[in-house]
Amino acid sequence: MARRDYDTVIVGAGVIGLSIAYRLAASGVSVLILDRKGMAEEASRGNAGAYAFADIEPLASPGVMFKAPGWLFDPLGPLSIPLGYAPRIAPWLMRFFRASWPDRLEASTRAQAALMDLARARTEPMLKEAGLAHHLRKDGAIYLYSSEASWRASLPMWSKREAHAIPFEHVSGARLAELQPGLGPRYTHGTFLPQWMTVSDPYQLTLGIGKAALARGATFRQAEVARLDFAEDGARVVLADGSTIGAGHVVVAAGAWSHKLAATIGQSIPLETERGYNTTFPPRAFDLRRQLVLPEDGYVISPLDTGIRVGGAVELGGLDRKPDFRRSEALVRKASCVLPGLETADGVQWMGFRPSMPDSLPVIGPSAKTPRVLYAFGHGHLGLTQSAATAHIIADLVRSNVSCTDIKPYSSARF
Ligand SMILES: Cc1cc2nc3c(=O)[nH]c(=O)nc-3n(C[C@H](O)[C@H](O)[C@H](O)COP(=O)(O)OP(=O)(O)OC[C@H]3O[C@@H](n4cnc5c(N)ncnc54)[C@H](O)[C@@H]3O)c2cc1C
Repeated sequence: MARRDYDTVIVGAGVIGLSIAYRLAASGVSVLILDRKGMAEEASRGNAGAYAFADIEPLASPGVMFKAPGWLFDPLGPLSIPLGYAPRIAPWLMRFFRASWPDRLEASTRAQAALMDLARARTEPMLKEAGLAHHLRKDGAIYLYSSEASWRASLPMWSKREAHAIPFEHVSGARLAELQPGLGPRYTHGTFLPQWMTVSDPYQLTLGIGKAALARGATFRQAEVARLDFAEDGARVVLADGSTIGAGHVVVAAGAWSHKLAATIGQSIPLETERGYNTTFPPRAFDLRRQLVLPEDGYVISPLDTGIRVGGAVELGGLDRKPDFRRSEALVRKASCVLPGLETADGVQWMGFRPSMPDSLPVIGPSAKTPRVLYAFGHGHLGLTQSAATAHIIADLVRSNVSCTDIKPYSSARF
């Protein structure tokens, strides 16, 4: 492998790749970041902006399995699979189903909670150190329910969160109205999470992390990586134009496209995309005090500096199909029942590719083929939330080949 142009080459300039670049550059490692589109141009650009540290339950759970068949009958519902894509995604769905069995579910909830603990500990210090703490909003969030019965049905989930020391407060009546005035009449019950944080705007924050990495010596280059290659003493990327760049480590942080690069070194990884949709209205659209989470319909309403964002939904439709923005419109109709005063003019629609593993846990750690290639992808609904934790683990592995965190649950070889 001989030629070593950088200590580390990172493929992917989303929130994961840029956080890793920041962490490494800040500790003196020479870093090249490669992205075919630019910084923060994919999932990290338009997400809902939540540091959802409380979200420790994997998506594959008995509750979701129970509701999924009903959702699938509603083509614009919270979960959908375009007919043509169903055969392609069947193997992933089988793994998703297996991940919902009690033994696996308990282990993955523990692993998710451990990563959330690390994320909670690492996020604010990293943003402060990078000069980006002004992007953080510490307003908490409200899980909102459309009836007392559905709030009651959520109580077992809250008990599980209590067991993981996650603080919350069940709210109704005057307390709920004080936390968020102007709710629709059906939304009488909720649960307030005081420690939930959001960001001013995920695009601005992610760009800020990228700029902080560059200010500490990292280099960015817009280029497409065609494949990877490795030897005992290093790894290299082969770009689409045929040129090569050598490094001590290559980090694959290419979001929903990461499995394609893993395949070029002979590792098959069951990564799929959960496509998500949203609409962002101008800030004047509603006086939103904090993020609202609508668990029954799988979407959130976020107060960003750049506007009010209504978004969520899961469409298991792969990387190539055109967006179906009727999904964004369906979510806005639902949000208008939650916030009857929401002004729905001048909305901007967006679709993004969540990189998702069947058990809702990311892949963080060495490739099964070589310790010279490190993986950092598959964070699904939680990439922003877990970015600082992922950067911490990968930086340890680059610097010393060892992580003080138990990374077995996030191993690329677990399937
Ligand atoms: C609607 C929606 C709402 C969400 N809300 C939240 C939320 O509130 N909180 C939260 O924590 N998470 C949320 N997420 C999830 C979060 O956005 C993702 O988990 C996260 O952005 C993934 O970051 P990433 O860096 O792995 O991927 P990306 O941001 O997709 O970045 C991957 C990058 O790799 C590049 N790339 C890929 N292949 C190559 C190649 N061969 N060569 C060069 N470059 C390549 C791409 O161009 C891209 O820039 C949401 C997602 C969606 C869709």
